[in-house]
Amino acid sequence: MESKKEIVIIGGGFAGLAAGVELVSQGHHVTVIESRGHLGGRAYSYREPALGTTLDNGQHIVMGCYHETLAFLEKIGTLDRIDFQQNLTVDFAGVGTGIKRFKAWPLPNPFHLLSGFLFFKGFSFEEKWALRHLAKALKALQGNDQAIRALDQYSVSEWLTAHHQPKSSQEKFWDIFNFAALNDSPQNSSAALFVRVLQEALFSGKAGARIGVPKVGLSDLYAEAARDYIERKGGNFLIKTKVHKIHFDLNEVIDIELEGGRRLAVETLLSTVPFTALKKILPENVLYQDPFFQPLHKLSYSPIVSIHLWFDRPVIDRPFVGLWGTRVHWVFSKQGTHPYVSLVISGGREEFKMTAPALIQMAMAELKSIFPNVVDAKLLHSMVSKEPEATLAPMPGVESLRLPQKTPYRNFYLLGIGRIQDYQPLSKVL
Ligand SMILES: Cc1cc2nc3c(=O)[nH]c(=O)nc-3n(C[C@H](O)[C@H](O)[C@H](O)COP(=O)(O)OP(=O)(O)OC[C@H]3O[C@@H](n4cnc5c(N)ncnc54)[C@H](O)[C@@H]3O)c2cc1C
Repeated sequence: MESKKEIVIIGGGFAGLAAGVELVSQGHHVTVIESRGHLGGRAYSYREPALGTTLDNGQHIVMGCYHETLAFLEKIGTLDRIDFQQNLTVDFAGVGTGIKRFKAWPLPNPFHLLSGFLFFKGFSFEEKWALRHLAKALKALQGNDQAIRALDQYSVSEWLTAHHQPKSSQEKFWDIFNFAALNDSPQNSSAALFVRVLQEALFSGKAGARIGVPKVGLSDLYAEAARDYIERKGGNFLIKTKVHKIHFDLNEVIDIELEGGRRLAVETLLSTVPFTALKKILPENVLYQDPFFQPLHKLSYSPIVSIHLWFDRPVIDRPFVGLWGTRVHWVFSKQGTHPYVSLVISGGREEFKMTAPALIQMAMAELKSIFPNVVDAKLLHSMVSKEPEATLAPMPGVESLRLPQKTPYRNFYLLGIGRIQDYQPLSKVL
């Protein structure tokens, strides 16, 4: 390492903690500043008061292709708190269909997926046969970043239709995959992002395509362990401390002003806050006049609505099921002292406006129409959680709006809103 730096990280969410762990392990001194009373940002858990269950703010999954995430968990010693599938396996169900399982075989890339589609009872012969067009399109895009970038102006639905995927197979597989991977409808999602995720998640090999579900709450999965790691290596935290403004002088950050007026001199500054929070802490002249930051005015977020339901008996005997023809996209079955099911509605802008009782009523009706066990089960308890800014909206055109890690300011870096394909390890960026 060239020189040890004094680094201030704004934000104690996943990005801030992962950056903190990486930087202290490289020998830098790190201070993480977090406005809330707890770490974890948009991925945290808490004690649900009525039943005493540890509950996440919303279901999170990881995939084998999340290389940096998995390396981070390994470093802080919690990778074994994720339950990984041996091979990609996803159950689907709709009204009167029973469960249709997609199961990739343990074969080399891309035969693991081909085997999955070949034996997938959710697809008709015609739907399977149409996949050859998609395979051809994906092959042509392999290693061709420019061609993928050009797809950014199209939606996922437009791209799938252009490659002869029937509406029925879009609804039964690709749309549900899109909701899970990009957190929005295929009409509102960039085809470029979709292709990148497909290439990384499904077509990078059988290990990359496996889905992992945390066995513990998110705070136990990473937030506490990352905090311990950073502190053990000499880093420190300022919790319940809000950054009010970043102060610049010509081409560098001079200091940050905390709420209450205290100022902290800064050598190197890393912002990991959502873009809405970043807009509040940048000075007006920088936010509105510096061309680098202008894309911030065009970005938006996609919400996630989660509904947790506790029954008097187990109702779904699969870890998770993708749902056909319902407003709920995914249902996860959680074991433990008080088993429950967690329902996910991605990009649900309409559902976001609904009241909790209306959401629960809708969810119960949808579950009963698909899972016969729910009809006789007694609902003991329920909770709704709404995250308005769960992820960046993946709308067409979003690729060109995401900001690189390096800003025009010598000692100021951004994390969490960059392009996936431009991501560089921090050791190379700082
Ligand atoms: C319900 C739900 C389900 C999801 N499911 C998945 C999934 O399955 N897989 C997946 O990969 N991703 C998923 N995501 C997305 C994932 O949670 C986020 O991408 C990730 O948590 C973002 O982390 P971050 O550190 O970039 O931002 P954040 O978590 O938002 O962290 C930023 C932190 O900065 C703090 N902060 C903000 N302003 C200030 C300030 N002025 N001063 C000091 N601190 C400040 C905030 O309090 C926050 O703690 C999901 C998100 C939600 C909400």
